[in-house]
Amino acid sequence: MRQHLKSSLHKLVEGNVRRLTALTSIGITAAGVALLAIIAYAGMAANKSASDRERTLLKNALNRGIARVLNEQKSVAWWDEPVAKITNAHIDFPWVDSEFGIFLTETYGQDEVYILNNENKPLYVYNEGGRSDPRAFALRQETLDPVVSEARGAPDRRLTARPDAFGEDQKDTQTLSGVPSNASWAGHILQVDCKLAIVAAIAIVPNVDMKLPDGKPNLLISVTYIDDAYVAALGRSLLMDHLMLSPVQVQRDGIISEPFVGDDGAQAGYLSWTTQRPGHVLLNVILPLVAFGVICVALLAAGMLKRLKKSSNELAERELQSRHDSRHDALSGLPNRPHFAERLQDILNARDAAPKDQHVFVAYVDIDRFKDINDTLGHHAGDELIKAVANRLADMMRQDTLLARYGGDEFAILWIAKGPNAANALADRIKNLFASRFEIAGQSLRITASAGIATAVEETSTADDLMRQADIALYEAKAEGRDRAVFFSADMANRVEERLSIESELRIALDADHLRLNYQPIISCDTGRIAGVEALLRWRHPVRGEIAPGIFVPIAEQSGLMPALGEWVLRRAMKDCSLWPDIQVSVNLSPVQFRQVDLQALLGRLTREYQIDPRQFVLEITEGVLMESSDRTSRTLDAVHAMGFKTALDDFGTGYSSLAYLCNFRFDKIKIDRAFVAGMSKSESYNKIVNAVISLGKGLGMEIVAEGVETETEVNIMTALGCTELQGYYFSKPIEAADMCRLMQTFIPRFKTTKAAGDAKHLILAEAS
Ligand code: C2E
Ligand code: CA
Ligand code: CA
Repeated sequence: MRQHLKSSLHKLVEGNVRRLTALTSIGITAAGVALLAIIAYAGMAANKSASDRERTLLKNALNRGIARVLNEQKSVAWWDEPVAKITNAHIDFPWVDSEFGIFLTETYGQDEVYILNNENKPLYVYNEGGRSDPRAFALRQETLDPVVSEARGAPDRRLTARPDAFGEDQKDTQTLSGVPSNASWAGHILQVDCKLAIVAAIAIVPNVDMKLPDGKPNLLISVTYIDDAYVAALGRSLLMDHLMLSPVQVQRDGIISEPFVGDDGAQAGYLSWTTQRPGHVLLNVILPLVAFGVICVALLAAGMLKRLKKSSNELAERELQSRHDSRHDALSGLPNRPHFAERLQDILNARDAAPKDQHVFVAYVDIDRFKDINDTLGHHAGDELIKAVANRLADMMRQDTLLARYGGDEFAILWIAKGPNAANALADRIKNLFASRFEIAGQSLRITASAGIATAVEETSTADDLMRQADIALYEAKAEGRDRAVFFSADMANRVEERLSIESELRIALDADHLRLNYQPIISCDTGRIAGVEALLRWRHPVRGEIAPGIFVPIAEQSGLMPALGEWVLRRAMKDCSLWPDIQVSVNLSPVQFRQVDLQALLGRLTREYQIDPRQFVLEITEGVLMESSDRTSRTLDAVHAMGFKTALDDFGTGYSSLAYLCNFRFDKIKIDRAFVAGMSKSESYNKIVNAVISLGKGLGMEIVAEGVETETEVNIMTALGCTELQGYYFSKPIEAADMCRLMQTFIPRFKTTKAAGDAKHLILAEAS
């Protein structure tokens, strides 16, 4: 049960913690990954936009390069002079050299200069540092043809188009200087002689004298190789570190190396440069740092979750423990009363589903005289016995039996069984539990127990009903003399009810002073006169009438009323004793008064309060006091004696009647029980026992009182046997104090003793009556 509860509670806690752990782990991981992704993305995006920008810059710079070459050409091509000086018919070569060939190559660093006529026939070629035969153009014709066509107004679709940077530049110039509308041009990057070069072509048109052209203008073409120096200068102007032309792709971190492709699709090596990489810090410094941070947070969180899991498990364990503790008895480990009641009610609720011949029993088991064991062997031994009994119960009961301990020495058994003999089987089992001796505190003890058993007979009986019934039956078992199992019956309940009402009414009667004391005379065998009186408690109930002390005294003893009731009796008797100062007054003391009251202190106080002489009082004690004897009883008896009170052992002949008591405790009187007295005339063995007791008592210097003397025969027998005092209806019933006073005055000794020969006593009944 506990195991089951434990595992389910653990599962619950573990489930919650696992969910929490999973959620937190997922949360942290997701947040960490997202953070890292954002940083990585930002770094890479920054890098990419930088490299994109660098590419665009480079592309623009190359376009500007083309525009620049065209601008250089324009400085000589848009001019009246060359239009006039370079014609199919005549060319002034020295002038063309100085203004075109030499000027363009030396001033602007162009590599080759060509001039074609209106039919695209070469008129002028300047290459390799000098003028060449125009026919040398044939070497370049095919390569330069697409640019020539474009410049002539028929763009070649094989060339990749470029933005016309030069044209943009001219927008203002054209309007300002009125450059002729046939001033066409084209510029591209092409592969020339296995190298990429800027190839630009521009029409040679007049800039002032617009009448000059006539038909298609001549075309100026120049080739400027894009060599290492060109690229290096480009890099410097763009502030692009290490921009260079390389035959193979450079594969180094931080270097962008891209194919350098001409507009004709030809590739000549690679353009490489060191990219700026603004995301570098993000990617190479911040990203690892953040990754480290994320890992730290994850580890920290994992540690915390682990601790959380541990502490929540501990918490669950503690909760389980306290729940277990609240439902179990600490000493035996068995379930306690509320737990038992709960389970019982559960089973009763499920009765409809149970087979018809199945019975539910509740048994209360109470160890007999457990208090004696505690008192004589110590509480340790008591605890040991409780555990031993709990173990035996657990061993002998079946698995489905529920056991409980109610504290003290009381156990409860919930027993479910089938068949008509189930009840007796349970009673037998309980009996067998105590059949063998218990080894407690080094001693072998025979322990008995009383049990009360109740069955769920009615459909409607509840756990409370059953438990109350078992309790009543247990009470009955104890009242019947212990060491037995008693089954609950309906009339028991009635008796209990009656007891309860008597108990509460007795309380009221005591408070309202509705009790009385009657007195019964005790006659001396020596004088035949009244030697003493016994005080006997009386209670006339307003409805029930006279209730015998044999009924209400035990109730008072069990309900805790006895100390108050006993004190009331002592006070009443001490008040009344002044009525008959010359005779002894016997008062009955209950064993409870020995246990629950500091008798010595009480008697001392009352003695002073009522100014009585303790020697006038006889305290009657039953064997019950001696059976539960402890050092305290002995001490109290000694102290009471020392104060001057006399003591009598009451009801001798009932109960254990151990002769040892007579020797171990000093009594002034023995009172032989009336059952014995009545039995005398019927049984010879009674006679012998009484004889022995009387001689023992006398030997010990005690007075012997015969109780319940009802007939003359009994008077004679008891006197003959040696009793020193007689008490019984033969002389008087118990009567009110006032009546007692009268009786004392009118009482005529019914018998007297005469001394005859020897010491023998003869009883002669008085003639008068
Ligand atoms: P007990 O101390 O043995 O008292 C004697 C009982 O025997 C009294 O019954 C008395 O009325 C009865 N009795 C006396 N002579 C005869 C007789 O010749 N024949 C018969 N059949 N009975 C006789 P009672 O008054 O009913 O008291 C019963 C018991 O109640 C007492 O037995 C005593 O144990 C208890 N009791 C009575 N008063 C007190 C009291 O004040 N304190 C305590 N603790 N117990 C008391
Ligand atoms: Ca008595
Ligand atoms: Ca008695």
